[in-house]
Amino acid sequence: MAKINRRKWIKQNTYAALALTIPGSFTSSLYKSKEMNTEHPICATCGIQYESATQEHCLVCEDSRQYVNADGQQWTTLPALNKTHKNIIEKVAPNMYAIYTSPRFGIGQHAHLMVTPNGNILWDCIANLDATTIDIIKKLGGIRAIAISHPHYYSTMIEWSKAFDAPIYIHQSDKKWVQRKSEAVHFWEGREKTLWDGLKLVLCAGHFDGATVLYNPDHGGQLLTGDMPLVCSDRKSVTFMYSYPNYIPLSSEAIRYAKESLDPLKYDSVFGAFGTYIRGDGKKAVDFSISRYLGQIK
Ligand SMILES: [Zn+2]
Ligand SMILES: [Zn+2]
Repeated sequence: MAKINRRKWIKQNTYAALALTIPGSFTSSLYKSKEMNTEHPICATCGIQYESATQEHCLVCEDSRQYVNADGQQWTTLPALNKTHKNIIEKVAPNMYAIYTSPRFGIGQHAHLMVTPNGNILWDCIANLDATTIDIIKKLGGIRAIAISHPHYYSTMIEWSKAFDAPIYIHQSDKKWVQRKSEAVHFWEGREKTLWDGLKLVLCAGHFDGATVLYNPDHGGQLLTGDMPLVCSDRKSVTFMYSYPNYIPLSSEAIRYAKESLDPLKYDSVFGAFGTYIRGDGKKAVDFSISRYLGQIK
């Protein structure tokens, strides 16, 4: 796509304007513990929302796959986040919208809304959810189900589920990381879960025991990954890590398990969680990346 056309295309397909950043306004709304909070608290570093207003530790950030902010554990709430952040909804493929927050919040991941003939699926989730986002997504057909790759992206999934009356699919192996109890959360077991229109969730494990990808056989075959695998900055390879912020690699057994899961799938494009996409020969790129990784750790 020529540069000028691409810019024009993005402009036509981007629904929310960039938020104005008001210096200091967000940091002043962060708090250290439960002072005067009556909302479900959201960790300011990873974006996960907890049930209890008196939550003091973020279990996800204290795990070796994340980190506690240098300023110590800080919390915010959804109403506070709504005041300082906006979501961008951007068409990234004929059947797909990326949804992300500006200014960046938490880990900074992008969720994706995939449009399919029998209902839309939200792949992964972000913490900020406001009335404008709900309105735009409803106009795009709403959300039939939410599926989340792994605990780093659980964010405010229960709020999203309530807003769209959508069930949430999470792998059983990651059950202990779910911080808000809800009947909307369905834990699936095994290596695959078939949804509708040929969509399926596939267990890759490794980064988390329950780390999964979403596969769509249409549109040339689309693989939506979270952090296992993660699409690299070069947009032509992927990688696999136990911890990205603390640089802890995975064993060859873990990489081979993921390879076994991915091998039967046919796909041309790979959509990563941070706006990096492989837009052709996706399967070849993943196979090359696996060989490269195994070559490095043998
Ligand atoms: Zn956290
Ligand atoms: Zn992760």
